[in-house]
Amino acid sequence: MDYKKYITVVEDWPKEGVRFKDITTLMDNGPAFKSAVNEIVEYAKSKQIDLVVGPEARGFIVGCPVSYALEVGFAPVRKEGKLPREVIKVDYGLEYGKNILTIHKDAIKPGQRVLITDDLLATGGTIEATIKLVEELGGIVVGCAFLIELTYLDGRDKLDGYDVLTLMEY
Ligand code: 5GP
Repeated sequence: MDYKKYITVVEDWPKEGVRFKDITTLMDNGPAFKSAVNEIVEYAKSKQIDLVVGPEARGFIVGCPVSYALEVGFAPVRKEGKLPREVIKVDYGLEYGKNILTIHKDAIKPGQRVLITDDLLATGGTIEATIKLVEELGGIVVGCAFLIELTYLDGRDKLDGYDVLTLMEY
């Protein structure tokens, strides 16, 4: 499917010079959203995953339907101060800003095979931080799946050695 026709490019948002890829117009379209999720589900089926992990907030939108379809759990990665129990943390730089990401300490059991999901791969900072959290808890990252990759930001350079699926490139 040509998913790009469902993405809205918003100029100068959230700040000047950024061409934001708005996925809400893809989510709005039932068949397109289902098809995109199904592609990630099919990708994940070959990887015998135990758990899906996604960073807030759009990593939840992509990851939760995948975990539901595969009958495996979903563990959220959230900004500092949002998860209620004991967490581990990592610092990371974003395309526009800085952040700390956290995951519950007991979210992953050592040896579990994890698929990481997010809506978009830009510089790779968010996914790199998420991988660090997963691996610190003993998880094995068997794949990373995104709807969109901004190839000109070279996020894949941070994912050397990891298997990556993206459904659209800009
Ligand atoms: P990175 O850490 O790879 O530089 O940035 C990726 C993260 O920022 C993702 O979690 C993604 O949700 C968000 N992000 C950055 N740019 C965009 C964009 O143009 N569209 C969307 N939907 N998310 C973006």
